[in-house]
Amino acid sequence: MGGVVWMLGAGLWAAEVIPPPTAKVRLAVLVVFDQLRGDYLERWQSLFGEGGFRRLQTDGAWFTRCHYPYASTVTGAGHASLVTGASPDRHGIIANDWYDRGAQAMVYCATSPRYESVPPVPPTSKKRPPGAGSPERLLVPTVGDLLKEATKGKGKVVSLSLKDRGAVLPGGRRPDACYWFEPSVGLFVTSTYYRDRPHPWVAALNQGRLVDRWFGKNWIRFRADLDYQRYSGPDEIEGEGKGVAQGMTFPHPMTGGAAAPGKEYYSALYNSPFGNDLLLELVRRGLEEEQLGRDEVPDLLCISFSCNDPIGHTWGPDSQEVLDVTLRSDRIVRELLHLLDAQVGPGRYVLVLTSDHGICPLPEVSRAAGRDAGRISASLLELEAEEALREKLGRPEGTAQWIEETWSPWVWLNRAVMAQQQRKPAEVEAALAEWLARQPGIQAALTRTQLLGSSPPADALAARVRKSFHPDRAGDVVVVPKPYYLLGNQFATGTTHGTPHPYDTHVPLLVYGPGVRGGGRDEAVTPQATAAILARALGVAAPPQAEVGLPASLGW
Ligand SMILES: [Zn+2]
Repeated sequence: MGGVVWMLGAGLWAAEVIPPPTAKVRLAVLVVFDQLRGDYLERWQSLFGEGGFRRLQTDGAWFTRCHYPYASTVTGAGHASLVTGASPDRHGIIANDWYDRGAQAMVYCATSPRYESVPPVPPTSKKRPPGAGSPERLLVPTVGDLLKEATKGKGKVVSLSLKDRGAVLPGGRRPDACYWFEPSVGLFVTSTYYRDRPHPWVAALNQGRLVDRWFGKNWIRFRADLDYQRYSGPDEIEGEGKGVAQGMTFPHPMTGGAAAPGKEYYSALYNSPFGNDLLLELVRRGLEEEQLGRDEVPDLLCISFSCNDPIGHTWGPDSQEVLDVTLRSDRIVRELLHLLDAQVGPGRYVLVLTSDHGICPLPEVSRAAGRDAGRISASLLELEAEEALREKLGRPEGTAQWIEETWSPWVWLNRAVMAQQQRKPAEVEAALAEWLARQPGIQAALTRTQLLGSSPPADALAARVRKSFHPDRAGDVVVVPKPYYLLGNQFATGTTHGTPHPYDTHVPLLVYGPGVRGGGRDEAVTPQATAAILARALGVAAPPQAEVGLPASLGW
């Protein structure tokens, strides 16, 4: 494996051994539900059955005031933060995608062009650069890396998700198994970074075509007895999307609009709760076949259930679809706890359940509730910003532009144009930020010079943005939309996340296992405490770049 980004050297992080909460813990489990916003478990608590979320809320520690401390609340940043305990300023995953100024190309947080998919899949994504899963852009060690170091490789690390970044980043440098779902072919895949052929238990799941089980079946409400409108809202809301030929209302067809299983159907599966069921089956086989938690050396299992996220993006957090996938997630948790009880044994595992970010309400829903809200076209804003810079600072020669690249929320300015026009970077940044901050729906714009400065603005917003700023990767100006405004690429429907506002930063944090007193906690914590909690459960030192330790009220 390549060690180009950071060295895997003895002594780089000390393998100090700390006694676990009890000597019996054999498995630490990280469970992420992608985009499970912090308020859902309170809002819908009365609807959960026994043995799922409720078991964790009652018998485990339930932290209700858990917020990410940084601005860029997206999937890559969140997963990297959970397992390193750090923020993007240290772990380097500032976003899912960013612009590499030297290469003059966009890069993606969890792939490298040096690796290929295993098994091979045809290149399909026009959105992202070619390449396959690799953790090399992660700049600091994960809790799994520390387990590997402390146990000389004997402690197993298994990381499974539907999204590549949901598996790759938690898996760290040396996972024994790291798999994600490839919707273009309907297979779980890994990459040549990890190994050259899939584990037999993954190959068997792929060959069995369990993935096709839901083709042609409708996604209907999980609980026919429940008045969904009372707990979420009407089934049809202005601003909702239609998914992958799934429509705005129940029942949602599960074909992707195609006559046979193929990439359309697999994309629809990913945009439905059933992808999570498929992942649970992979988890079941991985637990069994890898014998996780069975020997004297503790293991780490990271699971990220991704489907909650595309569902929330499509139909919004106040939709019946999000209520439905949350109720189905409760059942997933119950089944997962059953598996762990049966295969590892009660009292022999520690489980942390959390999320990577929240979600903004549909602007149409916010406006109906009397809030100031709206949709901002990022592409139009970019065109207007370039024109504003031309008026203020002059016209670059030929086809050159002041703005070299944008990827929400960052703008990269063209340094060659600055030199040609004899303008200092700080001057151009300030001109752009000043213009942006005056636009409708924009709360603030901050510059690289401000973020790097020795006398930075002392406000809380700047502090959050600074935690998302890595000088080698971030752009020159960052835009923060006003609360309830969406900054995106002219999407007319659906919603998104990625801001420092509470609806994006708030996530649940549940810790279940031996030595944990059950019940709610009102201590203010960040999800990054997860790294210290998992490390303590495994009996290894917390990652050295972690910015928070164990919550005081956890009781460990
Ligand atoms: Zn996410």
